[in-house]
Amino acid sequence: MAAMAAITFCPRCGTRLEPKHDGGRDRAACPDTVCGFIHYGEFSIGCAGVVIREGRALLVQRGWQPFAGSWQLPGGYAEHDEPLTQAVEREVLEEAGITARVRDVIGFRHSLGGTAGGGSTNIYVVFRLDPLGGEPTCDGDEIRAAGFFSLDEMAQMEAVQGLSRWAIEKALSATPHAGLLPELGGPGAGRPGWQLFGLRPPSLG
Ligand SMILES: [Zn+2]
Repeated sequence: MAAMAAITFCPRCGTRLEPKHDGGRDRAACPDTVCGFIHYGEFSIGCAGVVIREGRALLVQRGWQPFAGSWQLPGGYAEHDEPLTQAVEREVLEEAGITARVRDVIGFRHSLGGTAGGGSTNIYVVFRLDPLGGEPTCDGDEIRAAGFFSLDEMAQMEAVQGLSRWAIEKALSATPHAGLLPELGGPGAGRPGWQLFGLRPPSLG
């Protein structure tokens, strides 16, 4: 069995998986030729939102492990059937009570993880959002606290996540539309399940 296999049975038909050489490496594959499932590994997409209001950035304090008590951008995993901009707007509202709309993409992180039992790969996209309304509030459980903080205030706070601070500094120092913008009229525009992001056109200055 390939070392990366983290599952034993086919998630589509329940047949026990067998090793198969595919694309230059051994993978766990379903021997049922009609099914044809191949396990390529664990993939996930996360998102986080930088929301700036009057020079202060929205942060939430984690209530759960790991890293309980640390401060970070609101965010989480995108559902498999959820547009990414909708995912980050949902997370900002759910975790911090702020209604906000995506403006552009600040950056993304790619990380490889997992254990000896199976590998995983993750993309974590950090968006900049414009606040539309609401005041910081949270559930007091998964999220212990939420609020807007300046960089000076953040410097006095313990355990502000490094990636969150990095993104906030980028957002505060960059021009208003410096990031990748949602392409509303681009290829595939209006096609369900598609979102395209691109460099700023010169006309936006
Ligand atoms: Zn199968």
